[in-house]
Amino acid sequence: HIPLLAVDGGGTKCLAVLTDRSKRTLGAGRAGSCNYQGIGREAAARELAAAISQALNEAAGRLPTAAPHDSMSRTAWEIECAVFGLAGLDTEHDRQVITGMVRDVLKMLRIRVRHLIVENDGFAALLGATNGEPGILVIAGTGSIAFGVNRAGETARAGGWGHRVGDEGSGYWIGKQAIMAVLKAADGRGEPTLLESLLLPHLGLDRVEELFNWTYGPDYSVEKVGELSPFVSQAADSQDRVAASILKAAGEELFLAARAVIERLRMREEPFKMILQGGVLQNDERVRRIVIEHARRYTPQVTIDKAQNDPIFGVIAKGLAYLEKQAGES
Ligand code: BGC
Repeated sequence: HIPLLAVDGGGTKCLAVLTDRSKRTLGAGRAGSCNYQGIGREAAARELAAAISQALNEAAGRLPTAAPHDSMSRTAWEIECAVFGLAGLDTEHDRQVITGMVRDVLKMLRIRVRHLIVENDGFAALLGATNGEPGILVIAGTGSIAFGVNRAGETARAGGWGHRVGDEGSGYWIGKQAIMAVLKAADGRGEPTLLESLLLPHLGLDRVEELFNWTYGPDYSVEKVGELSPFVSQAADSQDRVAASILKAAGEELFLAARAVIERLRMREEPFKMILQGGVLQNDERVRRIVIEHARRYTPQVTIDKAQNDPIFGVIAKGLAYLEKQAGES
């Protein structure tokens, strides 16, 4: 019997953590992307199951009464509350697909959950991270999104419409801009850029033409395009103007999403905190700085919360808040 399972699933990694009521980790597991929009439902379910069963195996070693987890055995795990914060949950249709997928995974792993919460990754992380206070959360990992909650408890989102038609400012978006910049430069339509000499060897390619074919070949994936974004940071560090302007545009796009949420929730005048999460915002100081500078100019009362730098903390906090409420009611 385990109090809490918290899962944060983004476009690159999926993290599952089991905790007791005092936030102590009992087990943790990690697998690849579980965004069904990027990799399909089956593959997403597989990654989710891998992360959760890893966490259960680790917990089994720590809990004196539990048998080691084995999906073939009759062992049934009881989990009080499971919170899933999953990228790709953007509409009611997504909610149905993803809730079905989560239930299948739990069934396959013989896990019984008393209370199940399935939300978008940003939404789950936001509510836990702000603890009932007004706040804006911007995630820029492989995908991107902005979510907010105001004093009245109303929530809103902007951006995050996936890699095909949205996710501006995300790792994927930055990677795609980088590929486009290399092709433009090769044509003579854009400035020469160091990106060519960084991207080609990373992907094991010799010529720009091959880079184009790569985008339609079997090795292409959303995640791999996202993995190109650190090279844009590296090029910008070496004074590459093309790279610097991609990162500037990324920061501005992320701020635009945050601003749309601030406006929609009428938070222009009220104090709130801003939380910046995901690989791009954690690792690229430029993008982070642009978002913060714009936010401070627009809403000087904003405070930047540095503690909650990983979505999983927010997801855990959300689950613990539920458990506390339950304990208070009974
Ligand atoms: C997904 C969103 C998600 C965002 C951040 C986007 O690609 O469509 O659901 O919230 O990435 O992970």
